[in-house]
Amino acid sequence: MTAMLSHLTSAMPVTILLVDDRPENLLSLEALLRRDGLVLLKASSGNEALELLLKHDIALALLDVMMPDMDGFDLAELMRGNERTRRVPIMFLTAGSSDRQRRFRGYEAGAVDFLQKPLEPDVLRSKVSVFCELYLQRQQIAGQRDNLKAFAEENLRLLKESHRNANALREADQRKDEFLATLAHELRNPLAPIRNGLQILRMAPDGERADTVRDMMDRQLTHLVRLIDDLLDVSRVSRGKIDLRMERIAIQDAVKAALEASKPLIDAGMHALAVEVPEPPLWVDGDLTRLAQIVSNLLNNAAKYTPEGGRITLSVAPDGNQIEIRVKDSGIGIAPDMLRKVFELFTQVDQQLDRSQGGLGIGLALVQKLVEMHRGKAVAESEGIGHGSTFTVRLPLATEPDARPPEVDADRGLARPLDVLIVDDNCDSADTTRWMLELLGHRPRVANNGPAALIAARNHRPDVVLLDIGMPGMDGYEVCRTLRAMPEMDPVAIVAQTGWGQESDRRQAFDAGFDQHVTKPVSLDILTRVLSQVGSSRDG
Ligand code: ADP
Repeated sequence: MTAMLSHLTSAMPVTILLVDDRPENLLSLEALLRRDGLVLLKASSGNEALELLLKHDIALALLDVMMPDMDGFDLAELMRGNERTRRVPIMFLTAGSSDRQRRFRGYEAGAVDFLQKPLEPDVLRSKVSVFCELYLQRQQIAGQRDNLKAFAEENLRLLKESHRNANALREADQRKDEFLATLAHELRNPLAPIRNGLQILRMAPDGERADTVRDMMDRQLTHLVRLIDDLLDVSRVSRGKIDLRMERIAIQDAVKAALEASKPLIDAGMHALAVEVPEPPLWVDGDLTRLAQIVSNLLNNAAKYTPEGGRITLSVAPDGNQIEIRVKDSGIGIAPDMLRKVFELFTQVDQQLDRSQGGLGIGLALVQKLVEMHRGKAVAESEGIGHGSTFTVRLPLATEPDARPPEVDADRGLARPLDVLIVDDNCDSADTTRWMLELLGHRPRVANNGPAALIAARNHRPDVVLLDIGMPGMDGYEVCRTLRAMPEMDPVAIVAQTGWGQESDRRQAFDAGFDQHVTKPVSLDILTRVLSQVGSSRDG
């Protein structure tokens, strides 16, 4: 018995209830059974026993049969009738054979034993030990059952989660396929007229038609560049890689830039444009380029989704501590259930629409993200299909800055011809840049790789180096660092010309010693501005 009960000490304590109306019997039972790991509770009546049974988790009840008021069998009946106590095993301590004649239905359940008085200590201990053992095994099984249940629940949760993930993946995959199809379509759209235009210019390079064709090609190219810029932007936004260049600006400046950018599309649609912008500056903390991009995207959409000859209104107004920018059109409108969705990535309300001026379904997603990055909100409203749309952007209004930074005079130094070294491994890109610069009156030279650039720079020290970054062998960073290590190149302005326009790329370029950083494809405007800045800084 000692051996059998010994392991109890290390496990949880086991509680045994002793019930006898005589205190001396209780004491002797207790003395017989006392062991480490056993808790012995004593009750001198059926009622007292019931109270203890309800409070404690009892492994075994030792019941004296002969008790006044409620005898052992009555107590057992009551125990069997209560959910909490019905499974507690009972051992009756009986005085004589007459007790056995009373039938007790719990007996049939098997959880009952009888011990004849006077008790034999060894028999009592070994029987108690068996019940304790049974109790511990039951506890262990219950624990395992709980573990199994938790395990099964966890498995079910994982299974559901993996189903959800699989569905999300399937949807994402489908959206990716749709997106790639749209992308290919949208990229090809502007390419076709550009190629046609080239053929026309080859056959008839001069005259009014040629001018129209050139304008058209310019427009289509701008569209193509915008698509690709949007595409790169949206990927940067989703990776949290867009850094805003925050400054306190007048929203009017951003609106002006947006109007300039969107004017060609609005004119092409022959829309009437009304601009309601107050004269006094409304200040905002933001990135001028990005704010202009937000407004321009909304204006472009208004132009795209409004049939020819429509009305577009751009209004800007203060509203409490906010600035409200509103772009309203008389176009095709948006169905109520799509109003929120239009801001989702790759959403296009009508895929079947004639999308000759379509996009990739990313413009509004970009608008919303950029607005949120400026701590603002963008909403779409429409009375429904055919009733036009209104897009409203609200931005926090800022206070007037102490002094406006002096404006850079973009035209200053424009006339000063500069020696420009163009370094680009893409010969077409280098040659066309050279021709543009020649037409602007500068003296350009071309090198198609890093080592050639270093030789050219040494032989004819330029005023400016327009340096491509991604080149095989020696890249632009290395060329720039090498040039910067030559004291005679100190006065040379080095401008990075790259397809990578992220803030981190700009920082890397400045770290390598570049003075300026422009993103490809560089327009004539930007090239002129950069060179005029170089020119004016050398004059100054
Ligand atoms: P995209 O114009 O490239 O398709 P956007 O994200 O800019 O993508 O717009 C998403 C969709 O929202 C558009 O495809 C169009 O269906 C709808 N939409 C956007 N602006 C307007 C508007 N002004 N009027 C009607 N529908 C619009």
